[in-house]
Amino acid sequence: MNGKNRFVRGALRADEGALDALYPRGAVCLLCGRASAGALLCADCGELLAAERLEGEDVPAAWPYEGLAGRLVRMLKDHAVAAAAEVLAAGVADAAGQAGEGAVTLTWVPMPPERLRERGIDHGRALAEAAARLLGQPCRQLLQRRPGSSRHTQRGLNAEERRRNVSDAFLCPASPPARVLLVDDVRTTGATLAACRECLLQAGAEEVAAVTATVAEFREDKSKEQMP
Ligand SMILES: [Zn+2]
Repeated sequence: MNGKNRFVRGALRADEGALDALYPRGAVCLLCGRASAGALLCADCGELLAAERLEGEDVPAAWPYEGLAGRLVRMLKDHAVAAAAEVLAAGVADAAGQAGEGAVTLTWVPMPPERLRERGIDHGRALAEAAARLLGQPCRQLLQRRPGSSRHTQRGLNAEERRRNVSDAFLCPASPPARVLLVDDVRTTGATLAACRECLLQAGAEEVAAVTATVAEFREDKSKEQMP
């Protein structure tokens, strides 16, 4: 990590979301930096993002990770730009379909506490809360990380390693509501979402659906460090 990065991360710890100041809300487009007439994206980027929307996929996800939405995910995740969550949440709310209707509680995949301190924002929580506002549904933390149970990241693991890494990583300490909608930023193999879903079902939830802002093409032959 170079000196500049250390400074930015330090600033984030002191003032959560400090980098949001670099992106004055609604003044300039999050993606291209041009004037955006009070919106989070300019009209051109809004259209490009809409054109990338996935339709009729087997897994509910709004966009491919390999595109503009992936850039927004990285802004949210790596640079704590909370406004990116609002743009992504619109796709999440839309892709949720029936799973987002009726009495349902939204929740997120919790981040390991040490990673939260490092990054300054729980991107999953920001995304789930923004999607819940759009759907008019409640959002609650239902899951916790089991201390010391998994590596911090799935990056650099193959599909089987990913599944094993997270199979016992989560706890659901209180009785969950009957219907739960799990929200996350990116689905790769789906191992994390499957582990969270299993945990919620074992704790007594009756129906657990999952929707992500993006879905990444998982290829084990690809340079592993490039996988989200
Ligand atoms: Zn733009």
